[in-house]
Amino acid sequence: MSRPLVRPLPADPAAFNATRFGNPDLTLRELFAAQPAHTLDPVSQLLDFPLVGLRIVPVSSVDPDTPLYLPPGVTLGSAASTSPDAPTQDSPEPAMVDGDGAEEPAIGHEHPETLSEREAVLIAHRFEINQVAAYLESGLSVLVQCEKLLVEHLARVMAVRSGKKYRKVEIAAAEPSGPPDPMRGGNRRSLLIEALQQAVTEAIDGQIVVVPHLDLLAGGSDATLTSEARDLTDLLYERSGCIILGFTDPSLTVPDVLAKRFAVRVSMDILPRAITTPASGKTGVKIGTTLVTREEVALFAGFDADRLYQNVAGMNAVRLRNGIRFAYHKHRETPDTTFETLLDELRLFKASTSADAFAVPDTTFDDIGGYAEVKAELQAAIEIVNGSDRIPEDERAHLVPRGFIFYGPPGTGKTLFAKAVAAAMGGNILVVSGPEITDKYVGESERKVRDIFAQARNNAPAVVVFDEFDAIAAQRTGRDDGGSRAGNAIVAQLLTELDGFRPATPVLIIGTTNRIDLIDKALLRPSRFREIGIGLPRLEARRQIAASHAKRSTYDDLSPALLDRLAEATDGMNGDEIGNIFRQARRDELLGSGERPDAYTFGTLVGKILATRQELDIQTARRTVRPADDERLPRRNPGRPDDPAAPRGTTGGPGRR
Ligand code: ATP
Repeated sequence: MSRPLVRPLPADPAAFNATRFGNPDLTLRELFAAQPAHTLDPVSQLLDFPLVGLRIVPVSSVDPDTPLYLPPGVTLGSAASTSPDAPTQDSPEPAMVDGDGAEEPAIGHEHPETLSEREAVLIAHRFEINQVAAYLESGLSVLVQCEKLLVEHLARVMAVRSGKKYRKVEIAAAEPSGPPDPMRGGNRRSLLIEALQQAVTEAIDGQIVVVPHLDLLAGGSDATLTSEARDLTDLLYERSGCIILGFTDPSLTVPDVLAKRFAVRVSMDILPRAITTPASGKTGVKIGTTLVTREEVALFAGFDADRLYQNVAGMNAVRLRNGIRFAYHKHRETPDTTFETLLDELRLFKASTSADAFAVPDTTFDDIGGYAEVKAELQAAIEIVNGSDRIPEDERAHLVPRGFIFYGPPGTGKTLFAKAVAAAMGGNILVVSGPEITDKYVGESERKVRDIFAQARNNAPAVVVFDEFDAIAAQRTGRDDGGSRAGNAIVAQLLTELDGFRPATPVLIIGTTNRIDLIDKALLRPSRFREIGIGLPRLEARRQIAASHAKRSTYDDLSPALLDRLAEATDGMNGDEIGNIFRQARRDELLGSGERPDAYTFGTLVGKILATRQELDIQTARRTVRPADDERLPRRNPGRPDDPAAPRGTTGGPGRR
């Protein structure tokens, strides 16, 4: 296989080359730490490669429009102004009209020969850009909701196409890269307020003031404006003749009072399926045609524009182009590269460029033993999400499930099922701990939930798992203390997000809990979350779980009779405990006796687990005789016959035999 290509633009080319040729054993990360450089392609996945494993082709200059990447951890001092994340131009002074670069790129029925990121954005959002320009032209202020990466490409073009004079509010300090975080916005917020104040005061009636990062005006939490921002909001209302074009990130909110200053709000959080132009006819030109070059299509044999769209609708045009270019560079000399390779690479690219830990799932339904009913229900849901031919397109949105709540005792494979769902959707998975949302992001939980959903849509198709869902989705209360208010706000946010489901960017939410009785009833409406009980495995399921773990632990030659015996002996155990028998046997073999385990060894291990359980039961019984415990702490003791959380109904919660 060929070596991956890296095209750096070093701050000091001579020193860069001296370091690189003098120390061929360095990794790329070490080279960049010693000799900072931008790159023409994303390199975050190559940083730990040794230099000898890479093809490094330094460039000395680039066209000003060429987007550059700053590898993670690299700082460049003054050269940082060339990064696409840093503002590179001062606001036009005095206010001006110009046409440079705002013209529409050609959109044909063929794959283009070449395509810059800016062209991709202008093509993908042709409709919204012209729509916003028309609103501005008629004197209406517009609030655009789109990812920060797009703002620099869109702001000027929208203003220019309106034909009006405009001025852009710039903040002198460089933008930090990475995900938006209003908590670190303090200083930049003051700068923005100052600059905006000046621009609005100086603007003449009918002139456009472009505010690229309006959401910075909001304080740390959603509903609040700092006192300076409040003064500014008053000024914006007073200067009603001034047209404002503001931008805000989908994961952040602009307080209502500020948002209402805008006559129109336009959301650009999803790629259109096709672009229509006067020449394209009604069906338009597919995104997979117009945003993928001829050379790229030729490399990925079997390229399918419709399937591409199903996997990238939530990516913005810049990320999509980065992902495709990355896949192209990585595989351009690999023989027999197919379209599936491109989809796999895009999936990995999405996961590795997300702020939260989205991952490519590594479990399939075949890895899960038993639970045939649960599997069947989930597979039917996935068929709808994936856009099965059996379901008419216009009915899909109506039939698609928003999410599931998996409830039942610990260790029964609830998280495992969520991973298998993500894999079957061809998507990524993010597992979030419920208590972490409420503890780690104190006062910020609602924003965090919104951010998670925004990222999930970018990763779509995707599954988000909220482990210990009861921690964030507990029954809302009528009380008005701080804790209840925060809890209620999270549930309200979850409801808003679930109700805003878009079939083009399928995101399934899965909550796992041992306490279904605690979950807010509004979430349990069938149109939102469907409850699926996952109880302790029955005899046949235990046999299958044992067989699956035996295989994973290299014991796939166990006799059917021994598997039968193990299934019988593990009555009352969950999947995790059954898996542990095999993990323990393998550990003992590798680190201890060196002998393959036999029936006697497995019997001993089962006995040990049962003894440990008995001991735990005794301890629990001792603890629960103290009445105060019961009152203060809701006891989590699932699996008991009288447990309110024990799986019920016919949703597939198999009980013990
Ligand atoms: P908790 O409620 O404590 O979060 P859980 O129900 O989410 O637990 P998982 O984390 O999904 O349980 O499962 C733990 C481990 O148990 C899995 O990694 C797997 O090894 C094993 N396991 C559980 N159920 C099964 C099953 N049906 N088939 C195969 N392995 C299983």
